[in-house]
Amino acid sequence: MPSFHPDETLLIELTAGQLDQATALVIAAHIEVCEECQKKSAVYASLAAEFLEQSDDTPCGEEILQALLSKLPEQQQNTPKIKLMPHQEDFYPQTLNDFLAAFPPQKSWQQVGGSLRQLPLAKGFNGATCKIMGVKAGHTIPKHTHKGDEFVLVLQGGLSDHRGTLRRGDFIYSDATVEHTPVAEMGEECICLVVTHGKLKFTGAFGRVLNWIS
Ligand SMILES: [Zn+2]
Repeated sequence: MPSFHPDETLLIELTAGQLDQATALVIAAHIEVCEECQKKSAVYASLAAEFLEQSDDTPCGEEILQALLSKLPEQQQNTPKIKLMPHQEDFYPQTLNDFLAAFPPQKSWQQVGGSLRQLPLAKGFNGATCKIMGVKAGHTIPKHTHKGDEFVLVLQGGLSDHRGTLRRGDFIYSDATVEHTPVAEMGEECICLVVTHGKLKFTGAFGRVLNWIS
């Protein structure tokens, strides 16, 4: 069971169709492996359906979003039980496999320094970059900040920074205020789905080189 989750606003924005495709992918892949977020999303989906039924005109996504956000405090006490999707034991969540089938990677895995490798996925989602990243067991991603938002979903292994240790299914969001030096857990390569809006900005000793190749 994941310990790190997207905040409620991201779940609501997904329900209201307000996220770009890359961000929607990483949130939806987390929901697929997280019972807690499945339950919350089901509540938002039923609230959205209720709102659509009560509306005379067809509301736009922004109106649905506002309606859902206004319901946030009252739905939190009353989360109904729903039938959960079966947990996917496969290496990637099915959401990601479906995405890869629809948008096959145009490039193969690229080595980035000695510790990292990355598989670039489809580009062009409102400027977001989407990739699968591998960090060798026990290795460190050099210290960096972010020019924009970064969304990470751990698919295999573990990754630690000052906020804790993320394992399979855990999701974490970082913005420009976060400077961190993530370390992969020992044992197996850490594989993550990473969506960034704006490039990473490496700040450590090898920063200039990594900024150039990343
Ligand atoms: Zn969750």
